[in-house]
Amino acid sequence: MSGGCINQGYALIGEISTYFVKLNQASQVEMFEAEMLGLQQMLDTQTIRVPKPICCGIAGDSAYIVMEWLEFGGGNTQAWEEMGRKLAEMHKANPPQPLQIVGETPARFGWERNNTIGSTPQLNNWTADWAEFFAKHRLGYQFQLAQRRGGHFSGKDELLGKVPELLDHQPQPSLVHGDLWGGNAAITKLGEPVILDPATYVGDREVDIAMSELFGGFPAGFYRGYNEVWALDSGYKQRKTLYNLYHILNHFNLFGGGYGSQASRMIEQILG
Ligand code: ADP
Repeated sequence: MSGGCINQGYALIGEISTYFVKLNQASQVEMFEAEMLGLQQMLDTQTIRVPKPICCGIAGDSAYIVMEWLEFGGGNTQAWEEMGRKLAEMHKANPPQPLQIVGETPARFGWERNNTIGSTPQLNNWTADWAEFFAKHRLGYQFQLAQRRGGHFSGKDELLGKVPELLDHQPQPSLVHGDLWGGNAAITKLGEPVILDPATYVGDREVDIAMSELFGGFPAGFYRGYNEVWALDSGYKQRKTLYNLYHILNHFNLFGGGYGSQASRMIEQILG
């Protein structure tokens, strides 16, 4: 299969069933373990369709993950509206919480394990305060990685100091996909919307909508459907650039190039 960013994809064709398999080096098995847990938790919300994970592990020199095979290829307006509605339902579902605090308030942001965004580690320490979580484990960590590869962003400290003010909206914790660009959302031949290849955690639902808008945007029906089920807050527009800065910093750390100047422009825009 072609099209994957990180792994080699295969169709495993048996007499009765076909499966989708991704392979990487054996050392990357934890990435697949986290993907499997994320897919399973999204499946457990019984909202939007994701490929059902079957198993993962190491065979010889390779790490593998096996999941349900899906035939992609459809995509009319109704299907994208349904994608929006179903994503909003997933965001509304009770999110997973750390065992020792289930039922307590405040609910926590984070996840039960770290995972990856692209191939970059993504830290998910459970945190009660969303602004603190996003400043430390999302932007702060990417800025640290950027510094190691020689990326200096002059507004960095001012920006990090301003995060509590920029994110003072007290979002409800939601299970989020975490990496919702166009390549990770598709419609099956039967017209059913699917999201795949997640970087799951419990966060502000707006991170998924922001990322969907980052590289050109999803079809308009998606946003109509989403807002029908759970309308976005008016402050979303102000927070969107901050949320997407995380992904652009990650792209800078993965690919370098013009993403550094894009990140600088975003920082300037946010600081006004
Ligand atoms: P990577 O982890 O390398 O980014 P993806 O999970 O994004 O790989 O998958 C790469 C491509 O393989 C997708 O864009 C899609 O076309 C195809 N694909 C992914 N999951 C499935 C599946 N369950 N069934 C069939 N094809 C799939």
